[in-house]
Amino acid sequence: MRVRLDDLVVSALQQGSAVPAFTCYDFTTALAVVGAAEEAGRGAILLVSPSTAATANGLRLIAALRGLADGAGVPVAVQLDHASDLRVIADAVAAGADSVLVDGSSLDYEDNIALVRSARAALDVLASDGAGTGPEIVIEAELGGLAGDEDRAFGSDAAGNAPAAGTAGLTDSAQVEDFVARTGAQLLAVAVGNVHGKYKGEPELRWDVLQDIAVRTRVPLVLHGASGIPSAELVKAAAMNVGKVNFNTELRTGVLETLESRTAAHRTDGENLQGLLADWDAAAGTFAATALATLSR
Ligand SMILES: [Zn+2]
Repeated sequence: MRVRLDDLVVSALQQGSAVPAFTCYDFTTALAVVGAAEEAGRGAILLVSPSTAATANGLRLIAALRGLADGAGVPVAVQLDHASDLRVIADAVAAGADSVLVDGSSLDYEDNIALVRSARAALDVLASDGAGTGPEIVIEAELGGLAGDEDRAFGSDAAGNAPAAGTAGLTDSAQVEDFVARTGAQLLAVAVGNVHGKYKGEPELRWDVLQDIAVRTRVPLVLHGASGIPSAELVKAAAMNVGKVNFNTELRTGVLETLESRTAAHRTDGENLQGLLADWDAAAGTFAATALATLSR
C-alpha cells in the first residue's frame, strides 16, 4: 500500500530501524525492490531521478511506480529525488510522486530556504485541488553539499571525491534548527562525509557531526550516497535519527554486472529476454533484500 514517506520513516525509527530508498530508472528494478520488501515484510521507498522526471516517459514511469506502490503488500512511497526545478517537481507530483527532495544544497543558505518554501507553496496549490482537501506532498530538504553525481558513479571531475579534510561541504549543525523551522521540511538530508557515486578510498562518516545534527532537530535525517558505506556503519545510523538511507550506485553496479555476464548465454538460449530480465530481477532483489536486512537490524 502507498503511504506517506514521513509516516513510513517515523514508524521505522520508532522500531530502531531505517527505511532504504532505491533509485529506479526502470520498472524491472522497481518490481524487484517491491518484491524484496514484501518478502522481508518491510517498507521501502522508490526514488525517481530528476533526469528521469524531466522526460515524458519518465513521468509515465512515475505513474507506473505509483500503481506498483498502491498494490504492494507492504508500505511503499514514491519520491522525486534531488529536484531543484519547480516545473519538474510539479510534473512529477502530478504524475504520481507523493514526496520530493527539494534540493537547494548547491545554493546559498537563504536561497536554499527560498527554494524549499516556493516548492512548498506550489505543491500546496497543486494538492489542494482548490478545496484544500488534497493529500499533502511530503518535502525532504538538503543542507550541506554532497559531492558526486547521483546518476553516474564516476566520469565527472566531482564524482566520488570525498570532501577534503575539515568541514567544508558538511552540514553546519548550527543552521539546522533555523533551516528546518523556516523551510518546514519534513525530512532533512545531511552531508556528513557521504558522497554520491563511488568513494575514493574508504568512506569516512563524521559521526560527531551527525550526532550534533541529530540533537538539534526532531525531523528524521536522510543519508544519501550509502553505496560503499560498510553495513556495520549503516546499522548505527538509525540510532542517530537517520530514518532513510538512499542507495543507487551499488544497485546499478549489481544489475550491470549481471547483464554483462548473462547476456551472451541468454542470446544463445533462443534470444531469451525473459531469462535476462529474471536475472536482472534477481540481482536487484538480492541487493534490496540485503539493504532491507542491514537497516532493520
Ligand atoms: Zn542523493
